[in-house]
Amino acid sequence: MKALTIEHLNKTYRSGLEALNDINLTVDEGDFFALLGPNGAGKSTTISILTSLVTKTSGSVTIFDADLDNQTELAKSYIGLVPQEFNFNGFEQVKHILVTQAGYYGVPAKEAEPRADVLLKQLGLWEKRHTASRSLSGGMKRRLMIARALVHNPRLLILDEPTAGVDIELRRSMWVFLREINQRGTTIILTTHYLEEAENLCRNIAIIDKGRIVENTDMKSLLNRL
Ligand code: ADP
Ligand code: ADP
Repeated sequence: MKALTIEHLNKTYRSGLEALNDINLTVDEGDFFALLGPNGAGKSTTISILTSLVTKTSGSVTIFDADLDNQTELAKSYIGLVPQEFNFNGFEQVKHILVTQAGYYGVPAKEAEPRADVLLKQLGLWEKRHTASRSLSGGMKRRLMIARALVHNPRLLILDEPTAGVDIELRRSMWVFLREINQRGTTIILTTHYLEEAENLCRNIAIIDKGRIVENTDMKSLLNRL
């Protein structure tokens, strides 16, 4: 099954800027997929359309069996998003953040608590479960963002520049978590401007530049050509 099918996707912002120009992409279920490109290429715009934060100008997007236009809520329920920016209420406790988020997705409280506990243990945040999120280290904040995105058990995890501004040690430790999540069966799409990140994690890759896909291939063939 395809996790994602994008056909003839265009986005022109109200300013007149053509951010996406006829994007066509598919991502298989189970894949670890990179959308690689320089700043301003259109990566965030693409992701924001998938998560319904930005409206597309034209084209179609299908997430698993859900058409984004006609089955928006179903499509949204399939996706967990890790945004670029840490956007928590810093005074809220770590576990509470996860349980609250589960509530937004309609996960019953009885299921939300154990689900939060599993994620806290998986992501090495168990000891911090009663800590206010603003007191976490940078790495822990990133992991909390991943845990929050996973709390409703999404089939597709989307990360927008997950390791931008992160030191190499933390970046590598995040790669380990992301590989584990993918191995447990979650499809992952990440945007990055580091080829090294895509190379280390991803099976398939699309390169975007000035709103157009300029490459769409598997990682091995790309590296053989470089
Ligand atoms: P839409 O067409 O999706 O409604 P708009 O063109 O109205 O989007 O822009 C949404 C907001 O983003 C506006 O407040 C706009 O000022 C702001 N914005 C404009 N240019 C940029 C940019 N280059 N990067 C980020 N935000 C921008
Ligand atoms: P990336 O994530 O690859 O850095 P973006 O999708 O953020 O690229 O931006 C693609 C292009 O669209 C850039 O030229 C950016 O300035 C522009 N852009 C992004 N958001 C807006 C907006 N809200 N309004 C107008 N232009 C925008």
